[in-house]
Amino acid sequence: MEIVRPKIFSKYKSLICGITTRSWGDFKEPAEYKKNSKRLAKKLKIDPARIVKAGIQNGSDIVFIDKNKKNYPGDCLVSSKRNIYLMVTVADCVPVMFFEPQRKIIALVHAGWKGLAKSILKKAVKKICMKYGIRPENLIFYIGPSISKCHFEVRPAVAGLFPASLITKRSNKLFIDLKNAAKSQLLSARADTKKIEVSSDCTYCLSKKYFSFRREGKKTITAQAAFLGMKK
Ligand SMILES: [Zn+2]
Repeated sequence: MEIVRPKIFSKYKSLICGITTRSWGDFKEPAEYKKNSKRLAKKLKIDPARIVKAGIQNGSDIVFIDKNKKNYPGDCLVSSKRNIYLMVTVADCVPVMFFEPQRKIIALVHAGWKGLAKSILKKAVKKICMKYGIRPENLIFYIGPSISKCHFEVRPAVAGLFPASLITKRSNKLFIDLKNAAKSQLLSARADTKKIEVSSDCTYCLSKKYFSFRREGKKTITAQAAFLGMKK
């Protein structure tokens, strides 16, 4: 069973991070989450009770985790503690990981079009840097697999929330480049472009590898998990 690993973090051996693929099953529905997160924890050799899962709200709240709880409302979790494993579920939205290697700060964001329209990534960089006294250019980022500009068709009202440079028009349809929206938001918060890795995987295109809300069009969402933590 494959886990997608960010290359940009590979030299940091204390980090435990990745995105599950379809073969790991769903991480959204509570009973499935319980079963599948246990299997994942076993594979990662971590305690499943130390996983802190974000309660997705499509908002832009930044939540600082000081002790582990099972679930936090919000789309951005931040931690400076070892042995806490942040998790968000995604099924087309963009998972974004942050790591500051000197002070050992981590953050994990669920960035959908709603969160991005509310500048969740820009806010996250700003708040994290203020809280810990760190610099944006020292942060390292991974922008993970999500629905890409080949498939993310939106209504004109949604497209209007994003800069024109992120919109493409094909046969009278509008498409947003969400990953690039995420990257430009990080750059506007003074991130270093050399410290940003962007996955080229489209969750809609790669039907064997990922769940995709748009492609599957089901009422109940099935989702992969993005996770990020530091070993104890
Ligand atoms: Zn695609």
